[in-house]
Amino acid sequence: MRARLVAGNWKMNGSRRANAVLLDGIKAGVKPSDSVAVCVPYPYLEQVSGVLAGGAIAWGAQNLSEHDAGAYTGEVSGAMLKEFGCRYAIVGHSERRALYGEDDAKVAAKFVAAKRAGLTPIACVGETLAQRERGETESVVARQLDALGALSDAVLAYEPVWAIGTGKNATPQQAQEVHAFLRARVAARDGAVAGNLTILYGGSVKAGNAKELFAMPDIDGGLIGGASLSAADFIAICAAARR
Ligand code: PEP
Repeated sequence: MRARLVAGNWKMNGSRRANAVLLDGIKAGVKPSDSVAVCVPYPYLEQVSGVLAGGAIAWGAQNLSEHDAGAYTGEVSGAMLKEFGCRYAIVGHSERRALYGEDDAKVAAKFVAAKRAGLTPIACVGETLAQRERGETESVVARQLDALGALSDAVLAYEPVWAIGTGKNATPQQAQEVHAFLRARVAARDGAVAGNLTILYGGSVKAGNAKELFAMPDIDGGLIGGASLSAADFIAICAAARR
């Protein structure tokens, strides 16, 4: 059976005080058998690792450098993230692609750097509304996927850009269609990897729509933005991912 995962993406939100309350709330509601992670801003990794160490909830970062060390002012390497106990690093989030100019080659380099450091990359792909309306969804996500290389020891996240932070989620059927397309494309390269690949849906997942999204055969969990900042909402989404 494929591994499930619900991963929170806090984006650039939080404070030491708010994090403490949020993490306590999440810890109280998550079951040991749940597969859950929170991806937090770099400065909070020390706090988060202190609170979550030894428990069921993993943690990670939202980005990393494609380089291992050196004169890259402001950057953070995968090895540094490992020192803080990170299991995951998100790469290719649409906000990084759109706001920070990360193209497929840059995302691929970060994907490889995460693996090199022993992290599990959560690689995001997804089309804009204009691309969907032009019928380009499959060609866009195929191009983003193909740039990544081998998907072993990685998690894939389908995040339609038009659904992120907008309150408009893809319908379960719309999401399933793209998830099935992605899995088939990976299978064409490596059937075993495709069969085991955890593919998350992300884009306005909430307590109220998580269950029907996660019921689809190729949706293995979620990458959760806004709703991961509320312990009650995040816990309800984690519960919806239970089989
Ligand atoms: C995200 O940032 O990855 C995301 C899916 O955000 P939201 O859940 O707020 O749409």
